[in-house]
Amino acid sequence: MTPTGFRGTYRDDDDARGVYSEAAGIAQILPRAVAVPADAADVVALAAWAQATHTPLVPRGAGSSMAGAAIGDGVIVDLSRLDEIGAVDPSTHRVWVGPGAVRDAVNAAALAHGLWFPVDPSSGAWATIAGMVSTNAAGPHSLKYGAMRHWVTALDCVFDDGSRATIRRGAELPTQAKNVAAIRRFSTHAMSTIFTTAMAEPISHIRHVGVRKQSSGYALVEFAKTGDLVDLFVGSEGTLALIVGVELQLAPVPAGRVALCAGFRSLEAAVNASTRATALGAATCELLDRTFLDIVRRGDAPHDLDAGIEALLLLDAEAESQGEADALAQRIVDAFVALDAVGLSTAAEPEAIERLWHVRHAASPLLAAMTDVGISMQFIEDTAVPPQALPEYVRGVRAILEHHGFTGVIFGHAGDANVHVNPLVDLTRPDWRARVESALDEVVTLTSVLGGTLAGEHGDGRLRTPLLARVWADDAMVLFDLVKRCFDPRGILNPGVKVALPGQVPLGDIKYDPALPPLTAPARQALDLVSAGREYGRFRLDLLPER
Ligand SMILES: Cc1cc2nc3c(=O)[nH]c(=O)nc-3n(C[C@H](O)[C@H](O)[C@H](O)COP(=O)(O)OP(=O)(O)OC[C@H]3O[C@@H](n4cnc5c(N)ncnc54)[C@H](O)[C@@H]3O)c2cc1C
Repeated sequence: MTPTGFRGTYRDDDDARGVYSEAAGIAQILPRAVAVPADAADVVALAAWAQATHTPLVPRGAGSSMAGAAIGDGVIVDLSRLDEIGAVDPSTHRVWVGPGAVRDAVNAAALAHGLWFPVDPSSGAWATIAGMVSTNAAGPHSLKYGAMRHWVTALDCVFDDGSRATIRRGAELPTQAKNVAAIRRFSTHAMSTIFTTAMAEPISHIRHVGVRKQSSGYALVEFAKTGDLVDLFVGSEGTLALIVGVELQLAPVPAGRVALCAGFRSLEAAVNASTRATALGAATCELLDRTFLDIVRRGDAPHDLDAGIEALLLLDAEAESQGEADALAQRIVDAFVALDAVGLSTAAEPEAIERLWHVRHAASPLLAAMTDVGISMQFIEDTAVPPQALPEYVRGVRAILEHHGFTGVIFGHAGDANVHVNPLVDLTRPDWRARVESALDEVVTLTSVLGGTLAGEHGDGRLRTPLLARVWADDAMVLFDLVKRCFDPRGILNPGVKVALPGQVPLGDIKYDPALPPLTAPARQALDLVSAGREYGRFRLDLLPER
Protein backbone atom coordinates (compact mmCIF):
# COMPACT_ATOMS: atom_id res chain seq x y z
CA MET A 1 0.00 0.00 0.00
CA THR A 2 1.29 3.47 -0.88
CA PRO A 3 2.71 5.24 2.21
CA THR A 4 0.48 7.92 3.70
CA GLY A 5 1.00 11.30 2.04
CA PHE A 6 3.41 9.95 -0.60
CA ARG A 7 2.76 11.39 -4.08
CA GLY A 8 5.50 9.68 -6.11
CA THR A 9 5.61 6.21 -7.65
CA TYR A 10 5.36 3.34 -5.18
CA ARG A 11 5.51 -0.28 -6.33
CA ASP A 12 5.68 -3.55 -4.44
CA ASP A 13 5.11 -5.99 -7.32
CA ASP A 14 7.73 -8.68 -8.00
CA ASP A 15 9.04 -7.07 -11.22
CA ALA A 16 9.76 -3.76 -9.50
CA ARG A 17 11.27 -5.42 -6.44
CA GLY A 18 13.41 -7.63 -8.69
CA VAL A 19 14.78 -4.81 -10.78
CA TYR A 20 15.98 -3.04 -7.60
CA SER A 21 17.42 -6.21 -6.03
CA GLU A 22 20.88 -5.58 -7.45
CA ALA A 23 23.31 -2.69 -7.76
CA ALA A 24 26.79 -2.84 -9.28
CA GLY A 25 28.40 -5.19 -6.79
CA ILE A 26 28.09 -8.91 -6.24
CA ALA A 27 25.06 -8.98 -3.94
CA GLN A 28 21.34 -9.48 -4.49
CA ILE A 29 18.62 -8.73 -1.93
CA LEU A 30 14.95 -8.49 -2.81
CA PRO A 31 13.52 -5.24 -1.33
CA ARG A 32 10.01 -4.98 0.11
CA ALA A 33 9.03 -2.22 -2.31
CA VAL A 34 10.35 0.71 -4.34
CA ALA A 35 9.49 4.36 -3.78
CA VAL A 36 10.38 7.05 -6.32
CA PRO A 37 9.72 10.41 -4.63
CA ALA A 38 8.28 13.24 -6.69
CA ASP A 39 10.20 15.89 -4.75
CA ALA A 40 11.91 16.58 -1.42
CA ALA A 41 8.57 17.02 0.36
CA ASP A 42 7.73 13.48 -0.72
CA VAL A 43 10.94 12.23 0.94
CA VAL A 44 9.81 13.96 4.14
CA ALA A 45 6.44 12.14 3.97
CA LEU A 46 8.15 8.82 3.28
CA ALA A 47 10.56 9.16 6.23
CA ALA A 48 7.72 10.06 8.62
CA TRP A 49 5.75 7.02 7.40
CA ALA A 50 8.80 4.74 7.72
CA GLN A 51 9.36 5.94 11.28
CA ALA A 52 5.72 5.36 12.21
CA THR A 53 5.59 1.90 10.61
CA HIS A 54 9.16 0.78 11.49
CA THR A 55 9.95 0.25 7.80
CA PRO A 56 13.61 0.33 6.75
CA LEU A 57 14.48 2.74 3.92
CA VAL A 58 17.40 2.13 1.54
CA PRO A 59 18.32 5.39 -0.24
CA ARG A 60 19.61 4.90 -3.75
CA GLY A 61 20.97 6.96 -6.63
CA ALA A 62 22.18 5.16 -9.75
CA GLY A 63 22.88 1.90 -7.91
CA SER A 64 26.47 1.85 -9.20
CA SER A 65 28.05 1.33 -5.79
CA MET A 66 30.01 -1.86 -5.36
CA ALA A 67 29.59 -3.02 -1.77
CA GLY A 68 25.86 -3.67 -1.45
CA ALA A 69 24.82 -0.39 0.19
CA ALA A 70 22.10 0.50 -2.34
CA ILE A 71 20.14 -2.75 -1.95
CA GLY A 72 18.49 -4.21 1.11
CA ASP A 73 15.50 -5.63 2.90
CA GLY A 74 13.41 -2.48 3.07
CA VAL A 75 11.87 0.10 0.76
CA ILE A 76 14.35 1.27 -1.85
CA VAL A 77 14.10 5.07 -2.19
CA ASP A 78 15.18 5.85 -5.74
CA LEU A 79 16.27 9.51 -5.64
CA SER A 80 17.73 9.54 -9.14
CA ARG A 81 14.71 11.43 -10.52
CA LEU A 82 15.52 14.48 -8.37
CA ASP A 83 18.30 15.49 -10.72
CA GLU A 84 17.98 19.25 -11.13
CA ILE A 85 21.16 21.30 -11.48
CA GLY A 86 20.93 24.90 -10.31
CA ALA A 87 22.71 27.94 -11.73
CA VAL A 88 26.46 28.09 -11.16
CA ASP A 89 27.28 31.05 -8.92
CA PRO A 90 30.10 32.84 -10.79
CA SER A 91 31.37 34.63 -7.67
CA THR A 92 31.61 31.65 -5.29
CA HIS A 93 32.04 28.92 -7.93
CA ARG A 94 29.30 26.95 -6.20
CA VAL A 95 26.21 25.16 -7.44
CA TRP A 96 23.17 23.54 -5.74
CA VAL A 97 22.11 20.23 -7.25
CA GLY A 98 19.43 17.64 -6.56
CA PRO A 99 20.55 14.33 -5.03
CA GLY A 100 20.07 12.51 -8.34
CA ALA A 101 22.12 14.94 -10.48
CA VAL A 102 24.65 12.88 -12.40
CA ARG A 103 28.34 13.72 -11.95
CA ASP A 104 29.12 14.21 -15.64
CA ALA A 105 26.04 16.43 -16.12
CA VAL A 106 27.19 18.60 -13.21
CA ASN A 107 30.65 18.73 -14.74
CA ALA A 108 29.20 19.77 -18.11
CA ALA A 109 27.28 22.60 -16.41
CA ALA A 110 30.49 23.69 -14.69
CA LEU A 111 32.54 23.58 -17.91
CA ALA A 112 30.16 26.11 -19.47
CA HIS A 113 31.57 28.55 -16.87
CA GLY A 114 35.23 27.59 -17.31
CA LEU A 115 35.00 25.43 -14.17
CA TRP A 116 34.89 21.70 -13.51
CA PHE A 117 33.97 19.25 -10.80
CA PRO A 118 37.28 17.57 -9.94
CA VAL A 119 35.95 14.36 -8.36
CA ASP A 120 36.06 12.16 -11.46
CA PRO A 121 35.14 8.51 -10.79
CA SER A 122 35.18 6.25 -13.86
CA SER A 123 31.45 5.81 -13.17
CA GLY A 124 30.86 9.56 -13.66
CA ALA A 125 28.43 8.97 -16.53
CA TRP A 126 25.92 7.44 -14.10
CA ALA A 127 26.94 8.09 -10.49
CA THR A 128 24.67 10.59 -8.74
CA ILE A 129 26.02 13.37 -6.57
CA ALA A 130 24.24 12.14 -3.42
CA GLY A 131 25.55 8.62 -4.08
CA MET A 132 29.04 10.08 -4.39
CA VAL A 133 28.60 12.16 -1.23
CA SER A 134 27.41 9.08 0.63
CA THR A 135 30.39 6.93 -0.39
CA ASN A 136 32.95 9.78 -0.25
CA ALA A 137 33.66 8.84 -3.86
CA ALA A 138 36.93 9.68 -5.54
CA GLY A 139 38.63 9.43 -8.90
CA PRO A 140 42.09 9.61 -10.42
CA HIS A 141 42.22 13.38 -9.81
CA SER A 142 41.60 12.90 -6.09
CA LEU A 143 45.37 12.59 -5.77
CA LYS A 144 45.60 16.34 -6.31
CA TYR A 145 42.09 17.53 -5.45
CA GLY A 146 40.98 15.14 -2.70
CA ALA A 147 37.82 13.04 -2.55
CA MET A 148 34.20 14.15 -2.38
CA ARG A 149 34.38 15.52 1.18
CA HIS A 150 36.55 18.45 0.05
CA TRP A 151 33.93 19.61 -2.47
CA VAL A 152 30.70 19.51 -0.47
CA THR A 153 29.80 22.84 1.13
CA ALA A 154 26.21 22.16 2.27
CA LEU A 155 23.68 19.34 2.51
CA ASP A 156 19.90 19.52 2.59
CA CYS A 157 18.86 16.51 4.70
CA VAL A 158 15.72 14.64 5.70
CA PHE A 159 16.22 12.93 9.05
CA ASP A 160 14.82 9.69 10.48
CA ASP A 161 11.57 11.26 11.74
CA GLY A 162 10.88 13.27 8.60
CA SER A 163 12.32 16.56 9.85
CA ARG A 164 14.33 18.49 7.28
CA ALA A 165 17.25 20.91 7.65
CA THR A 166 20.24 22.26 5.77
CA ILE A 167 23.70 21.93 7.29
CA ARG A 168 26.48 24.13 5.95
CA ARG A 169 30.23 23.76 6.30
CA GLY A 170 31.88 26.45 8.42
CA ALA A 171 28.60 27.93 9.66
CA GLU A 172 26.66 27.65 12.89
CA LEU A 173 23.69 25.29 12.67
CA PRO A 174 20.50 27.17 11.77
CA THR A 175 17.66 27.01 14.34
CA GLN A 176 15.79 24.56 12.14
CA ALA A 177 18.74 22.12 12.32
CA LYS A 178 19.21 22.66 16.06
CA ASN A 179 15.57 21.60 16.52
CA VAL A 180 16.02 18.30 14.67
CA ALA A 181 15.69 15.56 17.31
CA ALA A 182 18.52 13.49 15.74
CA ILE A 183 20.93 16.43 15.84
CA ARG A 184 19.91 17.22 19.43
CA ARG A 185 20.58 13.61 20.45
CA PHE A 186 23.94 13.68 18.70
CA SER A 187 24.94 17.00 20.34
CA THR A 188 23.94 15.77 23.78
CA HIS A 189 25.21 12.20 23.74
CA ALA A 190 28.00 11.86 21.22
CA MET A 191 29.70 15.08 20.22
CA SER A 192 31.97 15.66 23.20
CA THR A 193 33.00 11.96 23.35
CA ILE A 194 33.96 12.10 19.68
CA PHE A 195 35.94 15.31 20.20
CA THR A 196 37.90 13.88 23.13
CA THR A 197 38.40 10.37 21.73
CA ALA A 198 39.12 11.28 18.13
CA MET A 199 41.48 14.12 18.98
CA ALA A 200 43.29 12.37 21.86
CA GLU A 201 47.01 11.89 21.30
CA PRO A 202 48.08 9.62 19.78
CA ILE A 203 45.03 9.48 17.52
CA SER A 204 46.25 6.36 15.76
CA HIS A 205 43.93 4.11 17.75
CA ILE A 206 40.84 5.19 15.85
CA ARG A 207 42.23 6.05 12.48
CA HIS A 208 44.39 4.40 9.90
CA VAL A 209 47.50 6.55 10.01
CA GLY A 210 49.11 7.05 6.65
CA VAL A 211 46.11 5.93 4.61
CA ARG A 212 45.42 8.67 2.07
CA LYS A 213 41.85 7.74 1.17
CA GLN A 214 39.06 6.61 3.45
CA SER A 215 35.43 5.76 2.87
CA SER A 216 35.05 3.17 5.62
CA GLY A 217 33.31 3.76 8.95
CA TYR A 218 32.02 7.17 10.01
CA ALA A 219 34.42 10.10 9.56
CA LEU A 220 35.01 10.69 13.27
CA VAL A 221 38.40 12.32 12.95
CA GLU A 222 37.36 14.59 10.09
CA PHE A 223 34.30 15.64 12.10
CA ALA A 224 36.37 16.17 15.24
CA LYS A 225 38.78 18.43 13.35
CA THR A 226 36.09 20.78 12.00
CA GLY A 227 32.97 20.19 14.11
CA ASP A 228 31.06 20.29 10.80
CA LEU A 229 28.23 17.78 10.47
CA VAL A 230 28.88 17.88 6.71
CA ASP A 231 32.13 16.05 7.38
CA LEU A 232 30.35 13.32 9.33
CA PHE A 233 27.59 12.92 6.75
CA VAL A 234 29.93 12.56 3.77
CA GLY A 235 30.64 8.85 3.48
CA SER A 236 27.75 7.81 5.75
CA GLU A 237 26.09 5.66 3.05
CA GLY A 238 22.49 6.66 3.68
CA THR A 239 22.60 5.54 7.31
CA LEU A 240 22.21 8.93 9.04
CA ALA A 241 19.82 10.91 6.80
CA LEU A 242 18.38 11.09 3.30
CA ILE A 243 20.07 13.78 1.23
CA VAL A 244 17.69 15.89 -0.86
CA GLY A 245 20.09 18.62 -2.01
CA VAL A 246 23.84 19.22 -2.21
CA GLU A 247 25.86 22.40 -2.64
CA LEU A 248 29.15 21.73 -4.41
CA GLN A 249 32.32 23.75 -4.78
CA LEU A 250 33.71 23.81 -8.33
CA ALA A 251 37.32 24.40 -9.42
CA PRO A 252 38.94 26.32 -12.29
CA VAL A 253 39.86 24.11 -15.26
CA PRO A 254 43.63 23.66 -15.58
CA ALA A 255 44.70 25.01 -18.98
CA GLY A 256 47.75 22.78 -19.48
CA ARG A 257 47.95 18.98 -19.45
CA VAL A 258 50.59 16.37 -20.24
CA ALA A 259 49.94 12.64 -19.83
CA LEU A 260 52.80 10.29 -18.96
CA CYS A 261 53.22 6.54 -18.98
CA ALA A 262 56.12 4.53 -17.56
CA GLY A 263 56.86 0.90 -16.75
CA PHE A 264 58.84 -0.34 -13.74
CA ARG A 265 60.63 -3.64 -13.17
CA SER A 266 59.70 -3.86 -9.50
CA LEU A 267 56.69 -2.84 -7.45
CA GLU A 268 58.99 -0.96 -5.09
CA ALA A 269 60.34 1.14 -7.97
CA ALA A 270 56.78 1.87 -9.16
CA VAL A 271 55.73 2.96 -5.67
CA ASN A 272 58.87 5.09 -5.23
CA ALA A 273 58.10 6.69 -8.57
CA SER A 274 54.50 7.39 -7.66
CA THR A 275 55.53 8.90 -4.31
CA ARG A 276 58.03 11.11 -6.13
CA ALA A 277 55.47 12.13 -8.76
CA THR A 278 52.90 12.93 -6.05
CA ALA A 279 55.45 15.09 -4.22
CA LEU A 280 56.26 16.89 -7.47
CA GLY A 281 52.56 17.68 -7.96
CA ALA A 282 51.18 15.06 -10.38
CA ALA A 283 47.40 15.43 -10.73
CA THR A 284 46.80 11.68 -11.20
CA CYS A 285 48.90 8.55 -10.79
CA GLU A 286 47.27 5.24 -11.67
CA LEU A 287 48.85 1.80 -11.32
CA LEU A 288 48.30 -1.21 -13.55
CA ASP A 289 49.82 -4.32 -12.00
CA ARG A 290 51.51 -7.17 -13.93
CA THR A 291 48.29 -9.19 -13.55
CA PHE A 292 46.41 -6.44 -15.41
CA LEU A 293 49.05 -6.13 -18.16
CA ASP A 294 49.03 -9.92 -18.69
CA ILE A 295 45.31 -9.72 -19.53
CA VAL A 296 45.80 -6.69 -21.82
CA ARG A 297 48.48 -8.59 -23.74
CA ARG A 298 45.89 -11.28 -24.55
CA GLY A 299 43.69 -8.75 -26.39
CA ASP A 300 43.90 -7.26 -29.89
CA ALA A 301 44.38 -3.69 -28.73
CA PRO A 302 47.76 -2.29 -29.79
CA HIS A 303 50.16 -1.98 -26.89
CA ASP A 304 53.81 -1.54 -26.27
CA LEU A 305 54.20 -3.41 -23.03
CA ASP A 306 57.66 -4.63 -22.12
CA ALA A 307 57.50 -8.25 -20.91
CA GLY A 308 59.56 -7.58 -17.76
CA ILE A 309 57.33 -4.85 -16.37
CA GLU A 310 55.95 -5.45 -12.87
CA ALA A 311 53.76 -2.36 -12.94
CA LEU A 312 52.82 0.47 -15.27
CA LEU A 313 52.11 4.00 -14.05
CA LEU A 314 49.79 6.38 -15.91
CA LEU A 315 49.91 10.00 -14.81
CA ASP A 316 48.79 13.52 -15.61
CA ALA A 317 50.79 16.68 -15.05
CA GLU A 318 48.42 19.65 -15.02
CA ALA A 319 48.94 23.38 -14.51
CA GLU A 320 47.48 26.78 -15.27
CA SER A 321 49.39 27.00 -18.56
CA GLN A 322 50.70 24.43 -21.05
CA GLY A 323 54.24 25.69 -20.43
CA GLU A 324 53.98 25.00 -16.71
CA ALA A 325 52.45 21.56 -17.35
CA ASP A 326 55.31 20.75 -19.76
CA ALA A 327 57.85 21.81 -17.15
CA LEU A 328 56.17 19.72 -14.44
CA ALA A 329 56.02 16.71 -16.77
CA GLN A 330 59.74 17.10 -17.49
CA ARG A 331 60.53 17.11 -13.76
CA ILE A 332 58.53 13.88 -13.37
CA VAL A 333 60.28 12.33 -16.41
CA ASP A 334 63.70 13.21 -14.94
CA ALA A 335 62.72 11.61 -11.63
CA PHE A 336 61.45 8.48 -13.41
CA VAL A 337 64.63 8.14 -15.50
CA ALA A 338 66.62 8.19 -12.26
CA LEU A 339 64.35 5.38 -11.02
CA ASP A 340 65.10 3.22 -14.11
CA ALA A 341 61.67 3.58 -15.73
CA VAL A 342 61.19 1.70 -18.99
CA GLY A 343 59.03 2.60 -22.00
CA LEU A 344 58.59 6.20 -20.82
CA SER A 345 56.27 8.20 -23.06
CA THR A 346 54.42 11.50 -22.83
CA ALA A 347 51.52 13.08 -24.74
CA ALA A 348 50.11 16.58 -24.80
CA GLU A 349 47.53 16.43 -27.62
CA PRO A 350 44.04 15.13 -26.68
CA GLU A 351 44.13 12.19 -29.12
CA ALA A 352 47.60 11.11 -28.03
CA ILE A 353 46.56 11.43 -24.38
CA GLU A 354 43.54 9.23 -25.11
CA ARG A 355 45.81 6.60 -26.73
CA LEU A 356 48.13 6.59 -23.72
CA TRP A 357 45.23 6.11 -21.28
CA HIS A 358 43.57 3.50 -23.51
CA VAL A 359 45.36 0.64 -21.75
CA ARG A 360 43.58 1.58 -18.47
CA HIS A 361 40.24 0.64 -20.04
CA ALA A 362 41.45 -2.40 -22.01
CA ALA A 363 41.27 -5.10 -19.32
CA SER A 364 37.61 -4.93 -18.21
CA PRO A 365 36.01 -6.02 -21.52
CA LEU A 366 38.63 -8.77 -21.88
CA LEU A 367 37.89 -10.03 -18.37
CA ALA A 368 34.15 -9.93 -19.00
CA ALA A 369 34.68 -12.06 -22.12
CA MET A 370 36.68 -14.72 -20.25
CA THR A 371 33.56 -16.61 -19.22
CA ASP A 372 35.33 -19.94 -19.79
CA VAL A 373 37.70 -19.04 -16.92
CA GLY A 374 35.06 -17.65 -14.57
CA ILE A 375 32.86 -14.73 -13.70
CA SER A 376 34.33 -11.40 -12.59
CA MET A 377 33.37 -11.19 -8.91
CA GLN A 378 34.50 -8.03 -7.14
CA PHE A 379 34.64 -9.04 -3.49
CA ILE A 380 38.05 -7.57 -2.53
CA GLU A 381 37.87 -4.40 -4.49
CA ASP A 382 38.72 -1.26 -2.58
CA THR A 383 41.53 -1.60 -0.01
CA ALA A 384 43.77 1.39 0.66
CA VAL A 385 47.04 1.02 2.57
CA PRO A 386 49.77 3.45 3.60
CA PRO A 387 51.70 4.07 0.32
CA GLN A 388 54.91 2.45 1.57
CA ALA A 389 52.94 -0.78 2.17
CA LEU A 390 51.57 -0.93 -1.38
CA PRO A 391 54.17 -3.39 -2.81
CA GLU A 392 53.56 -5.80 0.06
CA TYR A 393 49.80 -5.50 -0.36
CA VAL A 394 49.90 -6.13 -4.13
CA ARG A 395 52.28 -9.07 -3.71
CA GLY A 396 50.05 -10.44 -0.94
CA VAL A 397 46.91 -10.20 -3.08
CA ARG A 398 48.67 -11.83 -6.04
CA ALA A 399 49.65 -14.74 -3.79
CA ILE A 400 46.12 -15.05 -2.35
CA LEU A 401 44.57 -15.10 -5.83
CA GLU A 402 47.07 -17.69 -6.99
CA HIS A 403 46.64 -19.84 -3.90
CA HIS A 404 42.87 -20.01 -4.45
CA GLY A 405 43.20 -20.58 -8.18
CA PHE A 406 41.69 -17.26 -9.30
CA THR A 407 42.81 -15.43 -12.42
CA GLY A 408 42.40 -11.75 -11.68
CA VAL A 409 43.66 -8.26 -12.27
CA ILE A 410 44.98 -5.72 -9.80
CA PHE A 411 44.90 -2.02 -10.60
CA GLY A 412 44.22 1.23 -8.83
CA HIS A 413 45.24 4.64 -7.69
CA ALA A 414 48.98 4.33 -7.00
CA GLY A 415 49.45 7.80 -5.54
CA ASP A 416 46.73 7.11 -2.96
CA ALA A 417 47.67 3.40 -2.60
CA ASN A 418 44.03 2.41 -3.19
CA VAL A 419 43.77 -0.86 -5.09
CA HIS A 420 40.93 -2.60 -6.95
CA VAL A 421 40.93 -6.33 -7.66
CA ASN A 422 38.82 -8.21 -10.22
CA PRO A 423 39.06 -11.97 -9.60
CA LEU A 424 37.45 -14.43 -12.00
CA VAL A 425 35.57 -17.13 -10.09
CA ASP A 426 34.71 -20.48 -11.68
CA LEU A 427 31.16 -21.20 -10.53
CA THR A 428 31.30 -24.77 -11.85
CA ARG A 429 33.69 -25.67 -9.02
CA PRO A 430 31.64 -26.88 -6.06
CA ASP A 431 33.98 -25.16 -3.61
CA TRP A 432 33.80 -21.70 -5.25
CA ARG A 433 32.05 -20.08 -2.31
CA ALA A 434 34.50 -21.47 0.26
CA ARG A 435 37.43 -20.24 -1.85
CA VAL A 436 35.87 -16.77 -2.17
CA GLU A 437 35.30 -16.61 1.58
CA SER A 438 38.86 -17.72 2.37
CA ALA A 439 40.37 -15.24 -0.08
CA LEU A 440 38.35 -12.38 1.42
CA ASP A 441 39.33 -13.46 4.92
CA GLU A 442 43.03 -13.50 4.00
CA VAL A 443 42.84 -10.09 2.31
CA VAL A 444 41.18 -8.62 5.42
CA THR A 445 44.00 -10.00 7.58
CA LEU A 446 46.61 -8.62 5.16
CA THR A 447 44.92 -5.20 5.16
CA SER A 448 44.76 -5.14 8.94
CA VAL A 449 48.42 -6.15 9.34
CA LEU A 450 49.47 -3.39 6.93
CA GLY A 451 47.40 -0.75 8.74
CA GLY A 452 45.04 -0.29 5.81
CA THR A 453 41.33 0.26 5.35
CA LEU A 454 38.92 -2.01 3.46
CA ALA A 455 37.29 0.90 1.63
CA GLY A 456 39.28 3.72 0.07
CA GLU A 457 36.44 5.14 -2.03
CA HIS A 458 33.54 2.66 -2.43
CA GLY A 459 32.17 2.55 1.12
CA ASP A 460 31.53 -0.44 3.39
CA GLY A 461 28.11 -1.54 2.26
CA ARG A 462 26.70 -4.84 3.45
CA LEU A 463 29.78 -6.60 2.14
CA ARG A 464 32.35 -4.96 4.41
CA THR A 465 30.29 -3.80 7.40
CA PRO A 466 30.57 -7.16 9.23
CA LEU A 467 34.36 -6.97 8.76
CA LEU A 468 34.90 -3.51 10.23
CA ALA A 469 35.88 -4.74 13.69
CA ARG A 470 38.90 -6.45 12.12
CA VAL A 471 40.42 -3.23 10.79
CA TRP A 472 39.07 -0.54 13.12
CA ALA A 473 39.97 -0.19 16.81
CA ASP A 474 37.37 -1.03 19.48
CA ASP A 475 37.02 2.70 20.32
CA ALA A 476 36.03 3.43 16.76
CA MET A 477 33.48 0.60 16.67
CA VAL A 478 31.84 1.90 19.89
CA LEU A 479 31.62 5.41 18.43
CA PHE A 480 30.22 4.18 15.09
CA ASP A 481 27.45 2.49 17.06
CA LEU A 482 26.83 5.63 19.13
CA VAL A 483 26.62 7.87 16.05
CA LYS A 484 24.14 5.50 14.42
CA ARG A 485 21.97 5.31 17.55
CA CYS A 486 21.81 9.12 17.81
CA PHE A 487 20.75 9.68 14.22
CA ASP A 488 18.67 6.56 13.71
CA PRO A 489 17.67 4.96 17.03
CA ARG A 490 15.03 2.77 15.41
CA GLY A 491 17.29 1.44 12.67
CA ILE A 492 15.18 2.78 9.79
CA LEU A 493 17.98 4.20 7.61
CA ASN A 494 19.87 1.57 5.61
CA PRO A 495 20.21 -0.93 8.47
CA GLY A 496 23.15 -3.33 8.12
CA VAL A 497 25.43 -0.71 6.60
CA LYS A 498 28.17 0.87 8.78
CA VAL A 499 26.84 -0.94 11.87
CA ALA A 500 26.26 -4.68 11.45
CA LEU A 501 22.99 -6.38 12.28
CA PRO A 502 23.06 -9.48 14.52
CA GLY A 503 24.27 -12.48 12.49
CA GLN A 504 25.17 -10.42 9.41
CA VAL A 505 27.87 -12.03 7.24
CA PRO A 506 29.91 -10.37 4.47
CA LEU A 507 29.12 -12.72 1.61
CA GLY A 508 25.56 -13.65 2.46
CA ASP A 509 23.74 -12.75 -0.73
CA ILE A 510 25.95 -13.38 -3.76
CA LYS A 511 23.89 -12.80 -6.91
CA TYR A 512 25.72 -15.50 -8.86
CA ASP A 513 24.73 -18.17 -6.35
CA PRO A 514 22.61 -20.69 -8.31
CA ALA A 515 20.79 -21.49 -5.05
CA LEU A 516 19.12 -18.03 -4.95
CA PRO A 517 15.42 -18.05 -5.95
CA PRO A 518 15.04 -16.72 -9.51
CA LEU A 519 13.77 -13.19 -10.21
CA THR A 520 10.83 -12.64 -12.55
CA ALA A 521 11.79 -12.81 -16.24
CA PRO A 522 11.22 -9.04 -16.88
CA ALA A 523 13.35 -8.14 -13.85
CA ARG A 524 16.15 -10.53 -14.87
CA GLN A 525 16.16 -9.20 -18.44
CA ALA A 526 16.30 -5.62 -17.24
CA LEU A 527 19.17 -6.30 -14.85
CA ASP A 528 21.13 -8.20 -17.52
CA LEU A 529 20.70 -5.20 -19.84
CA VAL A 530 22.05 -2.87 -17.17
CA SER A 531 25.10 -4.97 -16.33
CA ALA A 532 25.93 -5.87 -19.95
CA GLY A 533 26.04 -2.21 -20.96
CA ARG A 534 27.04 -1.03 -17.48
CA GLU A 535 24.16 1.38 -17.82
CA TYR A 536 23.59 1.99 -14.16
CA GLY A 537 22.08 5.36 -15.04
CA ARG A 538 19.02 3.78 -16.68
CA PHE A 539 15.89 4.39 -14.60
CA ARG A 540 15.07 0.85 -13.55
CA LEU A 541 11.26 1.07 -13.78
CA ASP A 542 11.56 2.24 -17.42
CA LEU A 543 13.27 -1.08 -18.23
CA LEU A 544 10.20 -3.08 -17.26
CA PRO A 545 7.26 -3.73 -19.59
CA GLU A 546 4.45 -1.18 -19.25
CA ARG A 547 1.70 -2.27 -16.89
C1 LIG B 1 32.40 0.51 -13.57
C2 LIG B 1 32.42 1.25 -12.28
C3 LIG B 1 33.42 2.16 -12.03
C4 LIG B 1 33.47 2.83 -10.80
N1 LIG B 1 34.46 3.74 -10.59
C5 LIG B 1 34.52 4.42 -9.41
C6 LIG B 1 35.55 5.35 -9.17
O1 LIG B 1 36.42 5.59 -10.00
N2 LIG B 1 35.56 5.98 -7.96
C7 LIG B 1 34.59 5.76 -7.02
O2 LIG B 1 34.63 6.37 -5.95
N3 LIG B 1 33.60 4.88 -7.24
C8 LIG B 1 33.53 4.21 -8.40
N4 LIG B 1 32.51 3.31 -8.61
C9 LIG B 1 31.50 3.07 -7.57
C10 LIG B 1 30.25 3.99 -7.65
O3 LIG B 1 30.07 4.52 -8.92
C11 LIG B 1 30.33 5.06 -6.59
O4 LIG B 1 30.26 4.44 -5.31
C12 LIG B 1 29.23 6.13 -6.65
O5 LIG B 1 29.51 7.11 -5.70
C13 LIG B 1 27.84 5.57 -6.41
O6 LIG B 1 26.89 6.51 -6.86
P1 LIG B 1 25.39 6.04 -7.11
O7 LIG B 1 24.58 7.20 -7.51
O8 LIG B 1 25.38 4.89 -8.03
O9 LIG B 1 24.98 5.60 -5.65
P2 LIG B 1 24.24 4.28 -5.17
O10 LIG B 1 25.01 3.09 -5.56
O11 LIG B 1 22.83 4.33 -5.59
O12 LIG B 1 24.32 4.49 -3.60
C14 LIG B 1 25.55 4.53 -2.95
C15 LIG B 1 25.33 4.84 -1.47
O13 LIG B 1 24.80 6.13 -1.35
C16 LIG B 1 23.58 6.10 -0.62
N5 LIG B 1 22.72 7.13 -1.20
C17 LIG B 1 22.44 7.32 -2.51
N6 LIG B 1 21.66 8.41 -2.65
C18 LIG B 1 21.44 8.90 -1.41
C19 LIG B 1 20.71 10.00 -0.90
N7 LIG B 1 20.06 10.84 -1.70
N8 LIG B 1 20.70 10.20 0.43
C20 LIG B 1 21.37 9.38 1.28
N9 LIG B 1 22.08 8.33 0.85
C21 LIG B 1 22.12 8.10 -0.48
C22 LIG B 1 23.06 4.70 -0.81
O14 LIG B 1 22.19 4.30 0.24
C23 LIG B 1 24.35 3.92 -0.78
O15 LIG B 1 24.75 3.75 0.54
C24 LIG B 1 32.46 2.60 -9.82
C25 LIG B 1 31.43 1.69 -10.10
C26 LIG B 1 31.40 1.03 -11.30
C27 LIG B 1 30.29 0.07 -11.55
